[in-house]
Amino acid sequence: MAEKRKSWQRAEPDNRLRGRAGQKQRQRRMDRTDGLCEMCEEEGLVVLATVVNHKVPLAHGGEDIDSNTENLCARHDAIVTAKQFSKSVPIEGKGIGRNGRPTSADHPWNRARRG
Ligand SMILES: [Zn+2]
Repeated sequence: MAEKRKSWQRAEPDNRLRGRAGQKQRQRRMDRTDGLCEMCEEEGLVVLATVVNHKVPLAHGGEDIDSNTENLCARHDAIVTAKQFSKSVPIEGKGIGRNGRPTSADHPWNRARRG
């Protein structure tokens, strides 16, 4: 008979390293790109990465190994994660004008007002 799962236990263990070992692993992976976002680098931008993303998500059976990770900024993490999990891709910021308003035409602030 299966053990009853306690409320604090995960339904499916994901074998992700946690605690101090997890921090060390994250630091090693971030060091690979000097802590910079890999996708921004491809766009010619220099942006600090805030997320170590799994290219094949652990939830999709991806391995928790360095070669399955990429360092991303929050913007790229949101885009990549949405694609990985087939959610709608967030509106991509295209910059802010001198007046402080977003320049992207599809930003809600720039859509035609109802009325
Ligand atoms: Zn980025």
